[in-house]
Amino acid sequence: MLGIMQDWPLTVNKILEHANRINPTREIITRRVEGNISRTTYAELFTMSKQVSNALKDHGIGMSDRVATLGWNSERHMASWYGAMGIGAVLHTINPRLHPEQIAWIANHAEDKVLIFDKTFLPIVEAIKDHLETVKTFVIYADADTMPENSLGAIPFDIWIDGRSDECRWGDFPEDTACGLCYTSGTTGNPKGVLYSHRSNVLHTMITMQKDAIGMGANDVVLPVVPMFHANAWGLALSCPATGANMVMPGAQMDGASIYELLDTEKVTITAAVPTVWLMLLNHLQENNLKLPHLNKVIIGGSAVPEKILRAFEEDYEVDVVHAWGMTETSPLGTLGTLPPHMLDAPIEERLEQKLKQGRPPFGVELKIVDDEGNDLPNDGDTTGRLMVRGAAIAAGYFKGVGGNVLDDNGFFDTGDVAHIDEYGTMTITDRAKDVIKSGGEWISSIDIENIAVGHPKVANAAAIGIYHPKWDERPLLVVQPAQGENPTKEEVLAQLDGKIAKWWTPDDVVFVSEIPLGATGKINKLALREQFKDYKLPTA
Ligand code: ADP
Repeated sequence: MLGIMQDWPLTVNKILEHANRINPTREIITRRVEGNISRTTYAELFTMSKQVSNALKDHGIGMSDRVATLGWNSERHMASWYGAMGIGAVLHTINPRLHPEQIAWIANHAEDKVLIFDKTFLPIVEAIKDHLETVKTFVIYADADTMPENSLGAIPFDIWIDGRSDECRWGDFPEDTACGLCYTSGTTGNPKGVLYSHRSNVLHTMITMQKDAIGMGANDVVLPVVPMFHANAWGLALSCPATGANMVMPGAQMDGASIYELLDTEKVTITAAVPTVWLMLLNHLQENNLKLPHLNKVIIGGSAVPEKILRAFEEDYEVDVVHAWGMTETSPLGTLGTLPPHMLDAPIEERLEQKLKQGRPPFGVELKIVDDEGNDLPNDGDTTGRLMVRGAAIAAGYFKGVGGNVLDDNGFFDTGDVAHIDEYGTMTITDRAKDVIKSGGEWISSIDIENIAVGHPKVANAAAIGIYHPKWDERPLLVVQPAQGENPTKEEVLAQLDGKIAKWWTPDDVVFVSEIPLGATGKINKLALREQFKDYKLPTA
């Protein structure tokens, strides 16, 4: 017997339609690439998005056609998303921090027909234009006055949509229609495309709105520093209009001073970004003796939260840190570190220790850990295994079948992360499977070593990698980038680790570099480091 309820397809256009009806005066506040601030209401965004739909249709764009963006967070970028998705086209966010060759490869693989971009990225687009096989239309986020000279025949975005009708039929298709495409940064091999559906994005939006997830409301002011091209700005471009929260968009300026200015003047209550961004903000706050009176919550993810960032926010600024784990393939939020009930009254040190863990899955996400043969392992908070995930907003494979079957027999996706899970469901990442250091058949967590090492005031960044060892197969080498003006010694760095990790985890050597290479999403590029140190001979070897 079927239920007797309405058929209401879960398509993302309904999110902006809701914002337009219920919270039409709530705003998106954008710092333009020119530096000035612009304010747009959800009602205005709705109109702009419909105009984008009509502009796209004029260029022959319809169901399933890919529309690419190389864009900072802005209201124009939002209008491109909703305008494309509303008519069943697929909005493809490209990460501008990738190598230009990789950008061209991705755009060709996706068969993008339109490319809309911020003028910051004009040099990249000019450089790759002859390699773009399918892009026919270029649009630049600008008006007539701010439009740069270019050799692409590009159209200024504002003129492209200006005067167009705001009537356009949206969402007249099944809810499992594709709506978004995002390639993983591909630190190994070519990037792989994750193809979101309307249904998966709407369900992910509902998942993130739970109180123990991000849980924002119409009264919140949310600043996504995390870019829309980095795993959908962690869903905020959908969950903010769904709730009616104001959005504050930082554009191209993500340095400490610029972010602080927005947090302060717009009275931001919730913000989200990777740890490197928060290091810059915290330095700025400390140097200028500033406070964060309006901010309630900071979501930190993309890589593990270092203890010094957690302590600074919680202890010095009284801001609730929510550590989040996820990946492009999980839409992206998989777990969040909101305190579970049994920890609420725990002593501060235990609460902080809990918050360093990656957190618990909200309703809608299932996790398990397995051994190398795929057997389930216990959730005892100690046994580590490969982290597997299942849910309605988790990838079932990659665009065009790249990578083949990625699910196990029970439909769980292999995250490539290594983790343990405790009896309350709290998950702790101990490594990426490919970064794990295998010493004498046992795993050493590179993440643990790195997090403790960066706690030393003379250390700016640290990376532990496995180096060949004749007896143990691999032993850890710690690569350290000293803090500005500092000259730490090997002994000082090792003393920082002493007593905090198992003795046999202690790196066999420490080397100092002027800069640790970072990948396109600001994470340490271990592949490059392993390449750089592939012939390194450990003193113990
Ligand atoms: P990319 O590899 O392209 O940067 P993602 O942005 O999708 O892709 O990154 C996903 C990976 O980032 C996860 O599989 C995990 O290894 C790492 N990661 C994300 N959040 C955290 C976190 N809070 N702690 C540790 N690792 C994390």
